[in-house]
Amino acid sequence: MQIVKADVVVTSPDRNFVTLRLETDDGLVGLGDGTLNGRELAVVAYLREHVVPLLIGRDASRIEDTWQFLYRSAYWRRGPVTMAAIAAVDVALWDIKARAANMPLYQLLGGASRTGLLAYGHASGQELPELFDSIREHQEQGYRAIRVQTGVPGLKSIYGIASNATYDGGRYDHEPAQRGDLPAEEDWDTRSYLRHVPTVFEAVRHEFGPELPLLHDSHHRLTPIQAARLGKSLEPYDLFWLEDVTPAENQEALRLVRQHTTTPLAIGEIFNTVWDYQLIIREQLIDYVRSAVTHTGGVTHLKKVLDHASQYQIKSGMHGPTDISPVGLAAQMHLGLAIHNFGIQEYMKHGERTNEVFRQSFTFSDGLLHPGERPGLGVDLDLAEAAKYEYQRAYLPFNRLADGTVHDW
Ligand SMILES: [Mg+2]
Repeated sequence: MQIVKADVVVTSPDRNFVTLRLETDDGLVGLGDGTLNGRELAVVAYLREHVVPLLIGRDASRIEDTWQFLYRSAYWRRGPVTMAAIAAVDVALWDIKARAANMPLYQLLGGASRTGLLAYGHASGQELPELFDSIREHQEQGYRAIRVQTGVPGLKSIYGIASNATYDGGRYDHEPAQRGDLPAEEDWDTRSYLRHVPTVFEAVRHEFGPELPLLHDSHHRLTPIQAARLGKSLEPYDLFWLEDVTPAENQEALRLVRQHTTTPLAIGEIFNTVWDYQLIIREQLIDYVRSAVTHTGGVTHLKKVLDHASQYQIKSGMHGPTDISPVGLAAQMHLGLAIHNFGIQEYMKHGERTNEVFRQSFTFSDGLLHPGERPGLGVDLDLAEAAKYEYQRAYLPFNRLADGTVHDW
């Protein structure tokens, strides 16, 4: 089972996606996602210039060995570009192995630990009526858990509120990257945010009752003491989790937050190796690991992170916005179905054009995702459809405070 062909496919149906497509001498095809939102072409170059030449002629069945070879032989370890490139190779090799075994990937990872994956969707609104409508819409679509993001009085543009439209003018929920030559500028005021958010959750609980699991994302904007205050002020509203309260590269910061609040914490969507989690897992400073398969070296490495987390009763909450391609999403559905410590899966629907480029086998019914029973990941890439959509430059937004200071986004 030798790799004879490796192509990096860039396509932009509703947004940019980077897909590695491997072919073996016995005719098997494997797909891996290497999409890094706003920096897609860096991964393309890393793969095309430095990784593809190493893959031709390699034994496709040696997944662990290939992972270790790519990680250690580069000398320069870790980082989002490197780990997304390794993830693309890793997931494509798992796809090939599962197709060769004629099994859905989750069977190779130990088989199903549950019937489906609880998914949460993104509801948002600048004001309460719009937010309530958005929550109801998600409930009608079957979602049993919902992330709530809200506008803040005095701020014009803020993370998490639907603004981008699809090609035909529909609402393409919370795809924050915008096509164009410059990143969009948003504004931020922490004191207004901290005052306003608890009032929104009070209103949402009053309207929707105590049962509905609610999540919220602070998007890395708070200091540890501010995060502690927010967690404490949200305790009466029983959040499923509070996400990215601090820019958590400083892992020790979470100790202070933990001392002050029992609101569960989720962190890690911008982390890419187990080393980023070492202290926060060992000291149980978080409750959910937010890493995506795509940004964390693939199934091979994220499974190790989650196995480590399981020893500390920490569960998965894999990142699943629309910049995780259908290939990356499928990989984490298989992983989530197989591991014991699955928590919840973020799930935002891809656009129609994306679903024509990537033909998928997964199902979403009654609030639960399932990757399906097709051999491999259950995703096929339609190369002719993909070729219709050229890469378009797009950036994630950034933030400035009222005095012009750049703030965490
Ligand atoms: Mg997030």
